[in-house]
Amino acid sequence: MSSKVTKLPLTPLSLLRQIRDVMAQDASAQVRLDRVVKIIAEGFASEVCSVYLLRAGDIMELFASEGLKKTSVHLTRLNIGQGLVGAVAAAAEPLNLANAQEHPNFEYRPETGEEIYHSFVAVPVFQGGKVIGVLVVQGKEVREYTQDQVEVLQTVAMVLSELAISGDLVNLKEIQSTAGGVLVQQLSGTQLCGGIAKAVAVLHKPQLVISNYVATDIIFEKEKFDDAIKELRESFDNYLQAANLSGDDAKREIIETYLLFTQDRGWITRVNEAISSGLTAEAAVKKVQEELQAKMSQLSSPYIKERIHDLEDLSNHLLGIILGKPLQPDYSDLPKEFILVARNIGPAELLSYDHSCIKGLIAEEGSASSHTAVIARAMDIPTLAKVQNATAVIQDGDVLILDADGGNIYIRPSEDIESAMDKHIALYTKREAEYEVLRSLPAISKDGVRISLNVNAGLFVNTASVLQEGVDGIGLYRTELPYMTSSDFPDAEMQSQLYAGMYNQLPDKRIIFRSFDIGGDKKVPYLNAGDEENPAMGWRATRIGLDMPGILRTQLKALITASAGKPLYVMFPFIAQVSEFDAAKSLLMKELSNFEMAGKKLPTSVKVGVMIEVPSILWQLDSLMPRLDFVSIGSNDLMQFLFACDRGAAHMAGSYDTLSPVMLNVVRQVVAKAKEYNVEVSFCGEMARKPLDALALIGVGVRNISVSAAAIGPLKAMIRSVDISELSSYLDYITTIPDTSSRGWLANYVRDHGIII
Ligand code: PEP
Ligand code: MG
Repeated sequence: MSSKVTKLPLTPLSLLRQIRDVMAQDASAQVRLDRVVKIIAEGFASEVCSVYLLRAGDIMELFASEGLKKTSVHLTRLNIGQGLVGAVAAAAEPLNLANAQEHPNFEYRPETGEEIYHSFVAVPVFQGGKVIGVLVVQGKEVREYTQDQVEVLQTVAMVLSELAISGDLVNLKEIQSTAGGVLVQQLSGTQLCGGIAKAVAVLHKPQLVISNYVATDIIFEKEKFDDAIKELRESFDNYLQAANLSGDDAKREIIETYLLFTQDRGWITRVNEAISSGLTAEAAVKKVQEELQAKMSQLSSPYIKERIHDLEDLSNHLLGIILGKPLQPDYSDLPKEFILVARNIGPAELLSYDHSCIKGLIAEEGSASSHTAVIARAMDIPTLAKVQNATAVIQDGDVLILDADGGNIYIRPSEDIESAMDKHIALYTKREAEYEVLRSLPAISKDGVRISLNVNAGLFVNTASVLQEGVDGIGLYRTELPYMTSSDFPDAEMQSQLYAGMYNQLPDKRIIFRSFDIGGDKKVPYLNAGDEENPAMGWRATRIGLDMPGILRTQLKALITASAGKPLYVMFPFIAQVSEFDAAKSLLMKELSNFEMAGKKLPTSVKVGVMIEVPSILWQLDSLMPRLDFVSIGSNDLMQFLFACDRGAAHMAGSYDTLSPVMLNVVRQVVAKAKEYNVEVSFCGEMARKPLDALALIGVGVRNISVSAAAIGPLKAMIRSVDISELSSYLDYITTIPDTSSRGWLANYVRDHGIII
């Protein structure tokens, strides 16, 4: 094999400028592309330059060529992985061959007349980390191109991507529906909220548009990049200080990683090289980002993928600085219905979208009891978390089927999958319609026992779900959500308006307001809880309220104001000792007497209760119950402490069953004690939203359940199909069996008794 280097007749910069000028011409995209390939062939002193673009069905189609037979344009088509062009698309990497015909992947296409060419260099054209085209240069001589020349061609490909995605050559919808070198079509994750949805994807990330790819002044572009890096480092230093102050270790680690990247010589050098080859600072950052993102889809190490993800985030921050735009998602052009795909999304960010348009949520991080999960459930959108690589594999506009019940996401689904899932969606819709029929029916069992159904809400409420027969009101109103989405403690005025809004929306329904449960996994940025090794067992909820009574009193004032002339139910969370309840209740009584003394209108009645969610309180029920009007069992926290098993840790989720006899017996004891002291008892933990779990709870005596809105229909259907006295005897028996779970026993019972689950 002979190998000789030919010097290019044009400098890379003048080549890029010529291309830029052609791209700016007032001619059709095809004409401009034809002119561009001619310039590239000349610039590379080669006979051939061709551009292949991605078409539907993972096909690379020859779109323009200087040198190959004109009749082959739009005729020659190769599958991803087929021939040399297909190999470049599949590997998302350049290919540089002195004699292409010796390569095992070479596939002779007679219509092109390429048999006379030997040298071959091809680079992928990227968009969003996906290969959307291949740029090829070929020559008659047997010669290998230099690494510098390959890099120039990559830079040219970057500029060409602008033309390729203009939509004038290939309809963008067509590209979106094909994988384009990224063959992953199915992902799976952990369900945070059930349901099934079909819609296009919207990636939750800053949408920064680059309008200028080619540099006019390289030195200026390098300075622009240097300045942006400095600004980025400064902003990360500031974040780091804030994270240190608030003791947020997770945040600190992420920022430290980012800071390390901003000092990564390899990355900085690559961006600088891309600028030297003629790109603007923003185009250079994007080029390096695109190349890494494409490589990421081919790596298997989760650690490396995670690091490259960080780099992607970092590039987006940097682009925001260079382009002088805030890092805000662009809400201007969102589809009417979409599935939001995020690496991680905070409650405030989720709430910033118009929630009527969000049909589903997919996140790479998050756990069942995270803040976002709570909000997603309140919004009632199918949600999967822990979906590895979602933001790398899914592109904006991809059609997605999100089957949160089955834990699967189908990306750009094939016709087979789509029609199978359509059937599933139809069944789901039919079931939903059946639940609609139940709206006017009470939740009464076959043997005439009425179960009080209630809805868990916070910030907003699905009023339709509450305003139906058999639903008594809001069993748990999580008041901490506005604390989590504000930049400071919400004032009394704002809070009372919010609470008053609830009364207005739900006249004649009972609303149980739980005082704020901030802290733990519901951190608020403006409250420094210090360095806590176990925040779930740390400074949270009523503990904060008693240490900072001003904040709790502000909330209690807001609740009293909003409930003037109506019944007020206040529930204190995270009570571990009777004395804590006494202290919290006395703050409430003090505020009520202040209102009375000031002659302000009072609530018609005031009932006070606590959450049963800290195990220590289970041994204080005899002294607690006489002080109370009601209790509500919060299994989310109670179980994590009973089993010493972090509720937020996805990898621990399977280590115990909610239907453990231990838990069921605890519930039975609380119900019995409440009955003894004539205290109302309800159950508001997440497990009750599953009909089988709710069945078990009813079997051990629970008669009042509060769940997310979507669970009301399935629970009603279950309740109406069961004979509770028979069920209770069965539960009395199976909870004596020293098993890790009563699930199997219950499943048999359901099957044998035709209970609707
Ligand atoms: C619980 O702990 O069960 C509960 C309902 O409260 P939260 O999920 O808000 O902690
Ligand atoms: Mg709790």
